[in-house]
Amino acid sequence: MISRRKTRQVMVGNVPIGGDAPVVVQSMTSGYTHDIDNCVREINKLAAAGADIVRVAVPERKDTEALKEIMKQVHVPIVADVHFHFQRALEAIEAGVSKIRLNPGNINDRQQVERVIDACKERHLPIRVGVNEGSIVERKDKQKRMRELGGVFSDNRHGHILAIMITKLEEYLDIFYERNFYDIVISAKSIDPILVMDAYREISKRFDHPLHLGVTHAGPKETGTIRSVVPLGTLLAGGIGDTIRISYANDPIYEVQDGLELLYVLGLRQRKGAELIACPTCGRIQVDLFTLVQHVNRKLKEEITLPIKVAVMGCVVNGPGECEGADVAIFAGDKRGIIYVQGEKVANVPEENILDALLEECKKFQAKVLRGEAKLGEKVVDILPPDPIGELGSGYAKISAAKAESDRALQILNQ
Ligand code: SF4
Repeated sequence: MISRRKTRQVMVGNVPIGGDAPVVVQSMTSGYTHDIDNCVREINKLAAAGADIVRVAVPERKDTEALKEIMKQVHVPIVADVHFHFQRALEAIEAGVSKIRLNPGNINDRQQVERVIDACKERHLPIRVGVNEGSIVERKDKQKRMRELGGVFSDNRHGHILAIMITKLEEYLDIFYERNFYDIVISAKSIDPILVMDAYREISKRFDHPLHLGVTHAGPKETGTIRSVVPLGTLLAGGIGDTIRISYANDPIYEVQDGLELLYVLGLRQRKGAELIACPTCGRIQVDLFTLVQHVNRKLKEEITLPIKVAVMGCVVNGPGECEGADVAIFAGDKRGIIYVQGEKVANVPEENILDALLEECKKFQAKVLRGEAKLGEKVVDILPPDPIGELGSGYAKISAAKAESDRALQILNQ
């Protein structure tokens, strides 16, 4: 169990971030905010996929003007992402958004930033403060502080950048603190995953505000997943991070799906819907497992709401061990599959019927759990490989032959 760093808590609409709240998943719309119908469609799609909060960009007046109508048609808190124009922040606040994302470094006039802070304070809205290259206030002792921090970080490969980030953050936060404003979430994103980890670790030691984790411009999903999940997963496993946004150059729905999955596998959120385990297949496979897994995945998403653990295994050699803890499991053999539900064999079906039969068993099991007649994870699939009763056809023959060969090899070695 991960022990999380204690932070202050802020409320974004009805969603708490920080404190003892679960880690929150965010995403951002990719279309124009002033295109109201499309924006509403995007927000609702992201919310249906599990986004707790959705951010929208408001670069122009027509975008903030659209916010009131958008918010009537959605049910998740909306964050306005403001760059350069403090007026956009004031208009978004007036329209009723739940949080402002502001980079003080992008607004040249300190008084303008203060006006945004005061407007948020009046309405109890939090502000996310991002650290980047800009700066609005030159601290009198900035160079001195940089030298101090440079010494602290001298062994770090990113020492100089870290010193700048911390110095800038201190500058920014001073503006908020001077106005008695503490409903702050901090982000310190970078494209470099190592810098992301170092920056958030250092910030977490110095400030008790909740942290918004992310890697900027992570790229296409194919490579962006690793670039994002490695630093975010490492930080979260170390108890750092209160809200996350994975960002891909792709449909933002993937950001939500991957963000949630990351939290599920780390045990930081209670899974919604089934958990699917599947083997990668090998030379023992005798069904089209990849296609089957795709179909099972889609059907489970559509029809199963409880976190039932479902395993799809290519054979019974490693299958039982690898799907340990599964509530419902299928072991494939020679164009067939045997289905087990919590340790009990319930069907032996030809390949073409596996999908329907498996789904039927999942639905029956879900109904039993909902009626209180069964418990998730109570009994595990427990059968002995390899296929002791030969029900899986020639898969068993292959496995037996392989086993006999390895036994012979062992005998020779032992002679
Ligand atoms: S479960 Fe069987 S088919 Fe799948 S990878 Fe393991 S040994 Fe190979």
